[in-house]
Amino acid sequence: MKKVFIQTYGCQMNEYDSQQMLQVLSAKGFEKTTRPEEAQLLLINSCAVREKSEVKALSFLGRIAKLKKTDPSKVIGFGGCVGQTEGPKLLKRHSFLDFAFGTNNYRELPQMIEDFEHRWADTSADDERDTLLPSFRPDSKSQAFITITNGCDKFCSYCIVPFTRGRELSRMPEEIVAEAEILVQRGVSEIMLLGQNVNSYWGKNQSGRYTKLHELLHIFQKESEGGKLSGLKRLRYTTSHPRDFDEDLARDFRDLEILCEYLHLPFQAGSDAVLKRMRRFYRIDSYLRKLEKLREYSPDIALSTDIIVGFPGETREDFQKTLDVLRQVEFDNAYYFKYSARPYTRSEQMEDDVSPEEKTERIQALKELQRSISRKKYREDIGRKVEIMLEGPSRTKSHLWTGRTRGNRLVHLPKEDTFANGDILWAEILDATHCWLDGRRLDLPRAIVA
Ligand code: SF4
Repeated sequence: MKKVFIQTYGCQMNEYDSQQMLQVLSAKGFEKTTRPEEAQLLLINSCAVREKSEVKALSFLGRIAKLKKTDPSKVIGFGGCVGQTEGPKLLKRHSFLDFAFGTNNYRELPQMIEDFEHRWADTSADDERDTLLPSFRPDSKSQAFITITNGCDKFCSYCIVPFTRGRELSRMPEEIVAEAEILVQRGVSEIMLLGQNVNSYWGKNQSGRYTKLHELLHIFQKESEGGKLSGLKRLRYTTSHPRDFDEDLARDFRDLEILCEYLHLPFQAGSDAVLKRMRRFYRIDSYLRKLEKLREYSPDIALSTDIIVGFPGETREDFQKTLDVLRQVEFDNAYYFKYSARPYTRSEQMEDDVSPEEKTERIQALKELQRSISRKKYREDIGRKVEIMLEGPSRTKSHLWTGRTRGNRLVHLPKEDTFANGDILWAEILDATHCWLDGRRLDLPRAIVA
């Protein structure tokens, strides 16, 4: 069988796209390998959101170019967000690169590689199976992603996504549920609905009626209660934009059992002046009011966020306001990034006037503050009984398994022979760091604790 290796950078949406690429290629007789040296086809699925991930993808391209020197029959394709905007330039610059493709072209991979197939001895062994799009079960895991929107219309001034992914498109609710149904039949217990701006989902159904994310969540709840999605135990979604997060969505965390009490809601900066230059179209007090409302409906909800540090014109006073928001909200986790200008964006025209040293200092301050908050919040779980879903053996400690709470906290617990991916069980939390919990299994039926 021909082998394909895919190197993926960036967010869960890129991971989802890589799974779809594998799906398309498996119908052409390809099998996934994790070893680039044994692959006939090598693909890079790149991310352009931050300069760092673009640099990483390009340096990986250099590494696999060396493999091609020793085996010229290998075919290299460069895709994803960088492929979308820079594809022609990359092909000009790197003669060893066979083809480039964008974020919406992966379904055409079989046609793209047609011209190269004579390089491989076993092309005649092509499998004629129908493609299974749009569904693929990732490597025997109990969780899966489903992309429900693609692209973005928000045009935040720093973000390249509208240029790499294009305008926002929502999939039909029936198609999403059909994909979820296949995944659940294949053993998936938890689904994460994905979109760059997932909560502006606005999918037209078969009768021509538009469906909001809030309504789609209700469909999932209903179908999980003895309907098409019986067996689905947990549902999450990401990434949300504060402007599109409304009271219906807040109430869903109280009303829908299947929806885990976890929300990732990037605020990006604590200063209104910076938010305005970022073109985020909300003020920090409206963001905070939305979280207050959310906590009225779901007091224990776990929250995480994204922050950009050192956006053009961000003063020290502006940055202090970001720290104030962290102190006030007490997020479970925060993901912070140093600002870097991206091509095509409005902020590329602004002066990148916060020095690299200052950005590093600010990141350090955020890191220290957030660590202490996370540690405090995680330690509040010590002694509690929590529902966890098993995710598989620990990658570093053979005597442990990992699971995840509904609030997305990682739990380590001693392995038992009966453990299986996707099982829901109860655990008592014995210890905690700022990023994981240690626990022990409790032999309690779900109903007793719930
Ligand atoms: S909402 Fe803003 S940051 Fe998020 S993908 Fe759209 S343009 Fe980018």
